[in-house]
Amino acid sequence: MEITKDMLVDEIKVLQKAAKLHAKYSISQYKRVLNIVDELEKEKSLLEEKVKQRTNHLEVEIAQKEDLTNKLEKIAKYDQLTGLANRYLFLSELELIYQEAKLLNKTFSLLFLDLDGFKLINDTYGHDVGDVLLKVVSKRIKAIVRQDDMVARLGGDEFTIILRNIDDKEKVKKISTLLIEEIQKAIQINNLDVYVGSSIGIYMFNKHEEQTYHDVISKADIAMYESKKAGKGIYTFFDNTMQKEVQELTIMKHKIKHALEDGNFINYFQPIVSSVNHNILGAEVLIRWQNNGKIISPDIFIPILEDDISLIKDVTFWQLEQVVSVMYKHNIFFSFNISAKLLHNELIEKLEELIQKYEFEPSKIHLEVTETSLSTNMVQASNILLKVKNMGFRLSLDDFGTGYSSLAYLRELSFNILKVDKKFLDDSTKSDKNRKLLLAIINMAKILDMKIILEGIEENHQLSIFEKDKYIKLQGFLFYKPMPYDKFTNLIEANTI
Ligand code: C2E
Ligand code: CA
Ligand code: CA
Repeated sequence: MEITKDMLVDEIKVLQKAAKLHAKYSISQYKRVLNIVDELEKEKSLLEEKVKQRTNHLEVEIAQKEDLTNKLEKIAKYDQLTGLANRYLFLSELELIYQEAKLLNKTFSLLFLDLDGFKLINDTYGHDVGDVLLKVVSKRIKAIVRQDDMVARLGGDEFTIILRNIDDKEKVKKISTLLIEEIQKAIQINNLDVYVGSSIGIYMFNKHEEQTYHDVISKADIAMYESKKAGKGIYTFFDNTMQKEVQELTIMKHKIKHALEDGNFINYFQPIVSSVNHNILGAEVLIRWQNNGKIISPDIFIPILEDDISLIKDVTFWQLEQVVSVMYKHNIFFSFNISAKLLHNELIEKLEELIQKYEFEPSKIHLEVTETSLSTNMVQASNILLKVKNMGFRLSLDDFGTGYSSLAYLRELSFNILKVDKKFLDDSTKSDKNRKLLLAIINMAKILDMKIILEGIEENHQLSIFEKDKYIKLQGFLFYKPMPYDKFTNLIEANTI
């Protein structure tokens, strides 16, 4: 067939059309691809953004975790108040230094430092002042020792100092003297000049002595006690003769802590009599510790019990229960010594429990607190005491006239009874002025509607200082010494017949 021009033209047209169509198709294909690429790009940057955000987030999280770990580590290893190493860090460091000294023939000295009179400052001026004082003392210690010597606060007012690579006794003496001198300089807190002393015990490592690193601490501690015993404000080097004494003390502490469960505490009763006719009106409950058949005075072990609030609580609650359970037999009052540490809600709960459980008149229970003990936490103490009073119990202010007698206590807290300390009575016979002071106190108490108990009457002539008076009761060896329950019940039976 012959190809005509027209045919070619047609063919070209068809081809052109096809080409157009193809081009159109290609363009749309191309556009679609572009769109997809676009979308992919978008998605990619979105993902990238997300990854970036997540990374940032993770980074922040990691930083926070690190920060927290650091903080926890700090809390775990450093004393929050002073920033010094705490007991934990001190023990682990001492163990290392001790091993190092043993294996590598190195030396070190351990100083055990305890403040003198810190408790009094805390009790008198309050914890805030006590805290500032501890911080200042920490700084002073740090300033004296070398950078790589370790200073730790074990708790309360106890510090330890590890002096590395020192075996020259004279150098240790110099540092100790400096510590004592620096610490005892005045510390200005709230415009007050506050003074505190320190007693130091020193143990210089001796590789020839069989021991553990715990022994190193005990030895420095023992030496510190020697400093306290010898009058405080000095340093003492440990020597082996001290060991025995301290072993005994440790054993004693252990025994005291278990005396209640072992049944070795007993309550003694000291009658309190009327100044008018000397009849027995009540008794103060005084604790005794029976140790190997010997009766031990509370002055020795009460501070050990008070060191651990749960111990003094158990003992006092046990005393209350012992007496309250037999109150129905007696028509007199019983007076208990309450450590300031017990002035919180648990005491109220215990008293409530006793009221539910036993038959007794709350006004026959007197609770004695001392004014020094009140100064620690006046607000908390007064709240509790007020509650106790509202429950019907009687409140006694004990040892009045000793320590920092403050009339504020009489104003803020309404005590029912004022117990005038023995020392006041003793002094009153020494001068006319003292006698007048005693009489003034008696009058003041009466004006404030308080009853008075004069403590520690030993001699007949002391009775002539004041009048026989229904407001005044007497307690002292002139009448009766503290005695066990059996003897006491026999006595009151005879007394009331
Ligand atoms: P305190 O509360 O001032 O108790 C009075 C102390 O004076 C008692 O000593 C008592 O035996 C003694 N005393 C009484 N009359 C005379 C006297 O005429 N002359 C002399 N020289 N002393 C007299 P004790 O029983 O040795 O108690 C000493 C301190 O121990 C008490 O002083 C009290 O603060 C504390 N204490 C005693 N028993 C307890 C207790 O059960 N719980 C608590 N928390 N502390 C107690
Ligand atoms: Ca008392
Ligand atoms: Ca007293």
